[in-house]
Amino acid sequence: MSHHMNEWPTEPMPNGVVGRKCEHGLLHPDPDDLTLKAKKNFALNLQLAEHECDGCCVDLGQHQREEQEIRDQDRERRGG
Ligand SMILES: [Zn+2]
Ligand SMILES: [Zn+2]
Repeated sequence: MSHHMNEWPTEPMPNGVVGRKCEHGLLHPDPDDLTLKAKKNFALNLQLAEHECDGCCVDLGQHQREEQEIRDQDRERRGG
């Protein structure tokens, strides 16, 4: 599976999950490794996914979609 963190350097996290280091030096759990380790155990997935986060592991695609929505709503409000 591909994700936007694919090219970040990896480093093991304290809980054994593969971490991806963002440009700010923070480790974010690798989504693929989380899926591998937690399987379909949602609670375990959440537990392993816990980390200090500066938002870099959030998919930009999702963010851009939200911004698009806000722009659309704005246009409707102005009536055009
Ligand atoms: Zn970062
Ligand atoms: Zn993160």
